[in-house]
Amino acid sequence: MEGNGHSPENEMNDPGKLFVKTFGCQMNVYDTEKIYAFLQDSYVPAASEEEADVIILNTCSIREKAEQKVYSLLGRIKPLKDVKPNLLIGVGGCVAQQEGERILRRSPAVDIVFGTHNVDELPRLLEERIKFGKRVCRVREDTGTVPTSDAPRVMGSKRATALLTIMKGCDNYCAYCVVPLVRGREASRPAPEILDEAIFLVENGVREITLLGQNVNSYHDPDTGAGFVSLLESMELVPGLERLRFVTSHPKDFSPELAHAMADLSSVCEHIHLPVQAGSDRVLSAMKRGYSSRQYMDKIELLTKLIPEVEFTTDFIVGFPGEKRVDFERTLDMLSVVKYQNAFSFRFSPRPGTAAAAMEDPVDAEVKRPWLPELQNLQNQVTAEKHQNMVGREVEVLVESVDKKKSCFLEGRTRTNYIVHFPGDSALIGQMVQVKLASSRTIHLIGEMVN
Ligand code: SF4
Repeated sequence: MEGNGHSPENEMNDPGKLFVKTFGCQMNVYDTEKIYAFLQDSYVPAASEEEADVIILNTCSIREKAEQKVYSLLGRIKPLKDVKPNLLIGVGGCVAQQEGERILRRSPAVDIVFGTHNVDELPRLLEERIKFGKRVCRVREDTGTVPTSDAPRVMGSKRATALLTIMKGCDNYCAYCVVPLVRGREASRPAPEILDEAIFLVENGVREITLLGQNVNSYHDPDTGAGFVSLLESMELVPGLERLRFVTSHPKDFSPELAHAMADLSSVCEHIHLPVQAGSDRVLSAMKRGYSSRQYMDKIELLTKLIPEVEFTTDFIVGFPGEKRVDFERTLDMLSVVKYQNAFSFRFSPRPGTAAAAMEDPVDAEVKRPWLPELQNLQNQVTAEKHQNMVGREVEVLVESVDKKKSCFLEGRTRTNYIVHFPGDSALIGQMVQVKLASSRTIHLIGEMVN
């Protein structure tokens, strides 16, 4: 039997320390919050891997080499067990969902593997490991059930912003994407439960909530059938909620009704992340995105007409199988026309089990190699211009945290998603302040508080 010497009784008196390393998307950021919440009775957050009694790797397999990254990190943290024999290491998230028992076989340092549908079982899995000394793997298939109030509510340090998951999974099967395979079928939470959680968050100091789902536009209350616009209208009525955001919006499901709701509801911020992925209709069709570049632009134009100050961010995939230079140039055109505030851009990499992984690619990888830096350079120029245009303006900023690099500075965001740094006291976290913007940097603006 593999004992590890933990004593649950001791832990009741003296909470251990938990460190969760998060890879990938916002959904994982939310799952990390849930992990801390589920384990809050036994563990307090650790500042580093070195001081932790439990380390959890919350993994993501959307990008290339995800498994290798996890195994190489496991190799790096394994020696910590030599100095702290009771240290427990867990692996969760999408790589765990895909790899399961293989992780235990390949990495003897791992104590627990848990899938994307097993986060709520984590306290029990840790207890099993501690009490019975056996390494545990629990990876449940998607049961298609509606996610319920999925975390014990926790409010650690005072927070101005919070993520709130409204649905799980995705039914779209875009040709390159592994999410439907690892996160399962789409299922929405009942609206009353979401509103309840929003009220709790606001009562605990949160002023801005981001609603989270792989495709929030297809949200449907499982009991009433009411859609996403109706949820936004209900959220608008949550007392004290000043800002509302949502991510991710699939362009094919972004309706004119939603554009009007964004314009009409005062809490909904003037920013939207609308992932275009590519500007060429041929590539969009091969990706199975379900919209053309014209249809995408119609939505951008409607939003700009209804909300003149709206800002857009997006995702790009460069070098999809069969993508030619002429296709890539349509993506550059799209970027120049929309003038995205910012973009996440990636070189295409085949993910196991997806349709794109089986596609032939007659275009030489060497031909495509320079495209990603070309796109990123253009985006950097657009971002820099947009930042420069903001200099001299006075903006409302929700103060979120102390600047990590300069502790006498605070960091916050405008409603339109610009990141602003300015000198100030940490007591202002959670407050709305007016800031006059004085200069711009690559990813943020710098200013001074007014009054
Ligand atoms: S909409 Fe497409 S890209 Fe987004 S999660 Fe679903 S399958 Fe993946």
